[in-house]
Amino acid sequence: MLDLIVRGANLPDGRTGIDIGIVDGRIVELRPRLDAAGRREIDARGRLVTPPFVDSHFHLDATLSIGRPRYNESGTLLEGIAIWAEQKPSLSAHDVRDRALELCRWAIARGNLAIRTHVDICDDRLTAVDALLDVRRTMAPYIDLQLVAFPQDGFLRDPHARANLLRALERGVDVVGGIPHFERSMADGAESVRELCEIAADRGLRVDMHCDETDDPLSRHVETLAAETIRLGLQGRVTGSHLTSMHSMDNYYVSKLMALMHEARLHVVANPLANIVLQGRHDTYPKRRGMTRVRELTQIGVNVSYGHDSVMDPWYGLGSHDMLEVAHMAVHVGQLTGRDDMREAFAAVTTRGALTLGLTDYGLAVGKRADLVVLQAADPIDAIRLRSNRLAVIRRGTVIAESPAVESRVFIGEHTIAVDFSTSGDAAREPELATINA
Ligand SMILES: [Zn+2]
Repeated sequence: MLDLIVRGANLPDGRTGIDIGIVDGRIVELRPRLDAAGRREIDARGRLVTPPFVDSHFHLDATLSIGRPRYNESGTLLEGIAIWAEQKPSLSAHDVRDRALELCRWAIARGNLAIRTHVDICDDRLTAVDALLDVRRTMAPYIDLQLVAFPQDGFLRDPHARANLLRALERGVDVVGGIPHFERSMADGAESVRELCEIAADRGLRVDMHCDETDDPLSRHVETLAAETIRLGLQGRVTGSHLTSMHSMDNYYVSKLMALMHEARLHVVANPLANIVLQGRHDTYPKRRGMTRVRELTQIGVNVSYGHDSVMDPWYGLGSHDMLEVAHMAVHVGQLTGRDDMREAFAAVTTRGALTLGLTDYGLAVGKRADLVVLQAADPIDAIRLRSNRLAVIRRGTVIAESPAVESRVFIGEHTIAVDFSTSGDAAREPELATINA
C-alpha cells in the first residue's frame, strides 16, 4: 500500500497518462498504469503535474509594505531604495515576520515551494535577518527558504555593511549578496564583487548578486563577477541577478561576455515584472524593455531562471506571488512566443530555478522528494497562458494546499455550458478534482 498515488498525470516533458506513487514523502513509482493501491489517490485526469515552482529572487523583508511611509511615485529603482531606507529604522522583528509569513502562505497556495530571498543587512540591528531566520525555521516543513545577505546600501558605500554581512552569515544566512552598480564608482563596484566572492569562497558559500541593474550599456560588473568566479573556483555556485544592462550593451561586447559567463557556469536570474516597470525610466521614446538576453543566454547553455523580486513593496506595487504570472510576463517582454521558448519559460520558474538554488532533491523522478503541483492546465504552455489554478499542492507526499477548479457557466439558449479555458480535454468537462480513499 502506497501513501499517495497521483494518477493520469501529464508531465512537463510531454509524457501523458503517468501515475506517480509516493511512500514516506518520496516518489517511488513513476509510470503508466501503476498496479497498486494508495491510502489516498488523486486523479489528475490529464492535467499537468509539475514539480513545484521556484522563485529564484525575492525580497521577503520588504514584501507587503507598500505605502510605508509613502508610495513610489516616480516608479524608479532609486526612489524605491530611498523609500525602503526611510522605512528601515522603524522595522520590528514582529512586523517583518508577519509580512513574510503571509507571503509564504500566498506562495504555498500558488505552488511555490522554494524561494531564494535577499535580506537587507544594512541595519545594525539585523532585525530583518533574525526575523527571516525565524521564518525559515518555522516554515521549513512547508517551503524551502534560502537567505542571501544583501548589502542594499552598498558593501563599500555603507561603512557597516562588511561587519553586518559577516554577522549575518555567522547567524546562518546561506548566500553572499552584493549590489556593485550601487557603489560610488565603477571601480568600487568591481572591488565589492572581488571582496564578496572571496568571502563566499573562504566560507564555501554560494553567491547571488544584484548585478548591473541599470540601463547603462557600459555597466560591466557581470564581467568581473564571471572572472572572479573562475579565479576562485566557484563555477556553478554564482548567480548574476537582473543583468539588465545586458539589454543595452554593444552586441560585439556581449558576444564575448556571454562566452565568459558560460565558462564560469554562472546562473542568471531575470526578474521580468520588476525589469519591465523599473528599466527604461530615463528613456523618452523608444523605451527600452530592460530584461536581460534570456533567449541568447539560454541558447548557449547558460542556466536562466526567473524571480518574482517583489510583491507590493516600494519597487513593485502589484502581484500575488504567482510564478506563472512571471513566466507570462517574460514571454511577452522577451518575445519568447515559440513553442519551445514557452516551454523554456515554464522551466525557468521550475527546474531551472532549482538549478540556480542548488536544490538536489527536486524533480519528477523516482527517489526524489514527493513535492508536486496539480495544475488546471494540460501542459506548460496552457499553464502560462491561463496562469492556471493550482488544484493541489503536495509537499513530501502530503497535500498542503488546494483550490477548487475554476469554471464559468455560459447560458446559450436553453443550454448551460461549463468552460474552464483549458485545453485539457475530458478534464475541462469534469472540472472537479476527484479524490478517492481520502
Ligand atoms: Zn532584488
